[in-house]
Amino acid sequence: MKKIFLLVVSVALLLLLTCCNSEYLPVKAYGEPLYKSIVVIGFDGAGGMFRDGDTLTDGFRAFFGTEDSSIGFDYHCESPSISAQNWGSYLHGVPPLYHGKDNTSASNSRFTNKNCPSVFQVIHDVYPDAHLASISHWIPINYGLIETTAGVYKDPDRPGTDNEYSDEEVRDRVCSYIAENGAPTLLFVHFDSPDAAGHSCGYGSEQHLQAITDVQGYAMDIFDMFDPETTLFIVIADHGGTPDGDHGGKTEAEMDIVFGIRGKGLNPDAMEGVEFRPRDLAPIILTAMRIQIPKNMLGECPIGLFGD
Ligand SMILES: [Zn+2]
Repeated sequence: MKKIFLLVVSVALLLLLTCCNSEYLPVKAYGEPLYKSIVVIGFDGAGGMFRDGDTLTDGFRAFFGTEDSSIGFDYHCESPSISAQNWGSYLHGVPPLYHGKDNTSASNSRFTNKNCPSVFQVIHDVYPDAHLASISHWIPINYGLIETTAGVYKDPDRPGTDNEYSDEEVRDRVCSYIAENGAPTLLFVHFDSPDAAGHSCGYGSEQHLQAITDVQGYAMDIFDMFDPETTLFIVIADHGGTPDGDHGGKTEAEMDIVFGIRGKGLNPDAMEGVEFRPRDLAPIILTAMRIQIPKNMLGECPIGLFGD
């Protein structure tokens, strides 16, 4: 009996390891990208913005209120409700256990796991000339979560745990970058002020809510630079937090996140009943680009989201 138990445990472990370490086999395009540009804007610590979207500005509500839009506020982040674990899941299409990055390792070491490619790497491998960019307030995203081999313009790109720019500067740098270089194929932008306010004053505090209001304005400034006829717009958050300024646990205040998406031809009914998770972002982006989803990615694109 003991032998059978050991055998079962060994096989289970082998399966798990095989799954974690299976080689990333390059994938192919199966059609033309549905959009000229995809813009993903991440709001650090904005949770479900903040209670069921009660901080949504009129401009933001209207932007994501069109018939080809969907926005929800009670999706759940990956556990633990911490930044690098969740930004890593968003970018690599897997739960945190698989990409293996936390805030410390993302701030002091590059992303080198070739079996767990980022969405940028997958796109770059299919379209080496694709215009890819990531402009981030929080430094570890560019340094430790996106490969150096993915063909991504990064601003900034250095080790460290601190922040390079204020969110206003991030907005300004993004707008100048687009004005000078044109609209990227995939642009990732990260704003941090909601998380900073949440840590110092409490998530849900007046300062936190004001920061969430402000970043919506910055996001709209960026969205205004893109043609809604040919662009897929996405907004996400990595986690929320508690009134006493903490996160990492499993309470709704910490786990609830926003996911908003808008694009011509998008079918919002496809999101009904779907429990979006950060690991689903990369497969959604690849589906919009008509690129096969690598089998190493464990997230999914909701069926019919792009009308198929
Ligand atoms: Zn965070």
